[in-house]
Amino acid sequence: MISDNLLKIRERVALVCAKAKRDQDAISLVAVTKNRSPEEIREALAAGITDIGENRVQEALLKYNSLSPITQHLSPISWHMVGHLQTNKVKDAVRIFDLIQSLDSLHMASQIDKGAAKISKIQDVLIEVKTSEEATKFGVKPAEVIEVLKEIIKLTNIRVQGLMTIAPLTDNPEKARPYFKRLRELLCEINAQRITHAALRILSMGMTDDFEVAIEEGSTMVRLGRAIFEA
Ligand SMILES: *Cc1c(COP(=O)(O)O)cnc(C)c1O
Repeated sequence: MISDNLLKIRERVALVCAKAKRDQDAISLVAVTKNRSPEEIREALAAGITDIGENRVQEALLKYNSLSPITQHLSPISWHMVGHLQTNKVKDAVRIFDLIQSLDSLHMASQIDKGAAKISKIQDVLIEVKTSEEATKFGVKPAEVIEVLKEIIKLTNIRVQGLMTIAPLTDNPEKARPYFKRLRELLCEINAQRITHAALRILSMGMTDDFEVAIEEGSTMVRLGRAIFEA
């Protein structure tokens, strides 16, 4: 079932990319595995998934440890933190996550920087942007992103790779479009002002209900749970 779902998702991505004149290879797919069993995750990995997203460090750690033996037989897994991070979990988070997508404050950035320095790591992160009032509790307000970013780039063990957002849940994906557009414009503005060393490349936006609209608006990374694991 999971491999059938993935096949259908890839067809839908190909279709919307063709329509939007975008390269399908420019879109990465993160399987969000919160509340999914190790068996379900193994099935997704066997079907070609290479990127795993988790919301909670504790749950991610358990899966990270239980899945590591099979990673020897498959492509290496990239681990993404997509949920709100708590200060007391930073130490574990920097150890296991390749990309922390939910960086939502300068305070958290300095904690991650310290934790990463201790293990001599440069931690890749995305800034989570609160593009809508209703969708999320966490995230940096759009008007404050540039200001926050200017401080974060002074930290030596953290590297911002892009932006992430969660659109409000609606029955109509078109309603998500303005939030995705807002995030893309913000990325363009940051790159135009040359605030970071290298241009930011990742726009993590789009979930099961709205990933096609997100791709039309420039998403380079969609985060899918239900579309992969439910029929
Ligand atoms: C759960 C979750 C997803 C996946 O949601 P679906 O609607 O099941 O695709 C994506 N991003 C974040 C931050 C999530 O918490």
